[in-house]
Amino acid sequence: MRERTDYGGLDAFRVAAAILVVAIHTSPLSSFSGSADFFLTRVLARIAVPFFLMVTGQFILSDVVYRRTRSLSPLWRYLRKVLVLYAVAILLYLPLGIYAGHYQAIDGFAVVRMLLFDGTFYHLWYFPACIIGVLLLALLSRRMGLRGMAVTAGVLYLLGLLGDSYFGLTQQLPVLERVYEWGFHLWSYTRNGLFFAPVYLLLGTVIGAQKRPMPIRWAALGGIISFAVMTAEAFALRAAQWQKHDSMYLMLLPVMYFLYQLLLALPWRSRRTLRTAATWIYILHPFVIVLVRGAAKISRLSVLVDNSLVHYLAVLALSFAVAAVITAGLSQKPGNPCPSGRAWIELDRSALKNNVQFLQSMLPERCQLMPAVKANAYGHGMISMAKELQKLGVHAFCVACIQEGIQLRKAGIQGEILILGYTHPEQLDLLRRYHLTQTVVDISYARKLRKYGKPLHVHIGIDTGMHRLGERSENIEQICSMFQIRNLIVEGMFTHLSASDTLDAADKIFTEHQIREFYHIVEELKSRGIPVPKLHLQASYGILNYPELSGDYARVGIALYGVLSTAVDTTRWRDKLRPVLSLKARVASVRTIYPGESAGYGLQFSASHPMKIAVLTIGYADGLPRSLSYGTGSVLIGGKRAAIIGRICMDQTLIDVTDIPNIRPGDVAVLIGRSGHLEISACDLAEQAGTITNEILSRLGARLENVQKGQH
Ligand SMILES: *Cc1c(COP(=O)(O)O)cnc(C)c1O
Repeated sequence: MRERTDYGGLDAFRVAAAILVVAIHTSPLSSFSGSADFFLTRVLARIAVPFFLMVTGQFILSDVVYRRTRSLSPLWRYLRKVLVLYAVAILLYLPLGIYAGHYQAIDGFAVVRMLLFDGTFYHLWYFPACIIGVLLLALLSRRMGLRGMAVTAGVLYLLGLLGDSYFGLTQQLPVLERVYEWGFHLWSYTRNGLFFAPVYLLLGTVIGAQKRPMPIRWAALGGIISFAVMTAEAFALRAAQWQKHDSMYLMLLPVMYFLYQLLLALPWRSRRTLRTAATWIYILHPFVIVLVRGAAKISRLSVLVDNSLVHYLAVLALSFAVAAVITAGLSQKPGNPCPSGRAWIELDRSALKNNVQFLQSMLPERCQLMPAVKANAYGHGMISMAKELQKLGVHAFCVACIQEGIQLRKAGIQGEILILGYTHPEQLDLLRRYHLTQTVVDISYARKLRKYGKPLHVHIGIDTGMHRLGERSENIEQICSMFQIRNLIVEGMFTHLSASDTLDAADKIFTEHQIREFYHIVEELKSRGIPVPKLHLQASYGILNYPELSGDYARVGIALYGVLSTAVDTTRWRDKLRPVLSLKARVASVRTIYPGESAGYGLQFSASHPMKIAVLTIGYADGLPRSLSYGTGSVLIGGKRAAIIGRICMDQTLIDVTDIPNIRPGDVAVLIGRSGHLEISACDLAEQAGTITNEILSRLGARLENVQKGQH
């Protein structure tokens, strides 16, 4: 799976949360003030664990909760991972637990209690809590809707509160108290997988699935206010001596709600290292506490234990050091290759943003972009592009086929997803399961859809002259009849302009005819009292050449990626659209060949003079057209242009670097993009290969790595 790129807020807070958890277990301020320490460790630090649960909810449960999938295999994979981690942690802490006398006088019942609810060492309760909470919600999701799940999780939380910081209330009702006393045989705290975890898992799932994060201002304001109230709640409960344990508050729910909104709204880049480091700090800090105490004893530096703050900082520093070593070790292990080791595409997010804003500015106010992210977003990487676009405020996408739509949904893409092409009638159930919108490709297809019987969201395709998909525009009766089919929820109607890419007189006349045909149908619908659905007819060239057309969507593809189909069209938009993609590869080897020697497959190419050649780690299997062989194409390297020589191979390409000094293995060559003041655009490449940019980009191979600009 590709790295997510936009969860930096969550990743950073993981580390903050780990720091807070260490505080809970070391009481940093206890040497100075009981109240201050209570505030730090029993109020502020209580946001740490719910946060971890919410992240789990967002990333593990959303497909299940929103029924985007029936497959539970990602869930099982997650549970297996947590189980393994839990098992390792149990073993790791076994000696400490024995040393501390945790397992004395233990019976079978207590073992189960420990394993399922309390954890075998004080911080390890979190792992079974995750497992139980996730399983419980997965189970509930099969029986009830989101609301039912929310109510159930909320009620469980309230029950948990009565056994935690509101226990004083419970004690005032003897019957209730007895029930709880009985419960406390099963678990020592109600802060466990049954009462505590579900509500936060679900909250994370729901917030993570929302289309747009709350504005940072509101999230911050809400967070501050609710945290102030929670602090008051905690001190009041403490004063009333109601607390049996002190990790659950009523106000913790709104606090977490706003905090999570805030973290999601932060536009920071994801960092896997922070994630890994936080996990290890969490797992290992109790060990480090023991180490620090040991070190204090041996070195007689009693301040290390006597001063709570020094103690805390020492534990923290050592925990970070250990986590850093482990994280560095893990990131070097094989199977986690350097993202740009061989051949890769580089994506420029700021260029994408520029293009979105420019294209949107071309269109009338109410017309929205509906980017075409088909064919792996023209080779740019469908999921990462769609996510990026979603962040830029795009809420509708079009794809070519149902598989692409499903992939988008599985990656959590929201909003309307229109399938522009044919979907086999046997796959119609999938349209419903993944909330996809289908194009009605002609009247006979409409009849197939009617036969299916269950409700389907559709856009009706109109053929105004391209003669590819859509019902012919003159067949008004058939088109109107599609609107009457009971199970079709007609949300849109569109046509495709087949000659809008030039403003030649003949093309212009033809396009205007297509446009008239389309609006004629719209008039016809109106006159018959049929509600007019959303309309769209422009693709990239439709926006650039006919920006005034009124529609609800514009299905922009190639222009969004900052290029146009041919080099001829490019000039006019050159400073408006910026290419998003660059294609690069490394030099594997540099060698000399002598006059008369050939290079690569076949003998057609031979050197006429001593030549220095470099072998690039990219070939036609990566999408470099083989027709660029024999000097037709070139690359940029060392600030110069180097011709491709011989035949392009499946995985390698040879270039002539005779006149370019100091080329070494590992150097980077640019196949599409800029190097210094030179540029090879995708259009140039397409022209040399005798095709259009769209084909070059959409054929870029699956073997290419995908990196953000400036990341290699
Ligand atoms: C691919 C496609 C588009 C996008 O075309 P561009 O020219 O790349 O903007 C729009 N509409 C339909 C029907 C398509 O198939």
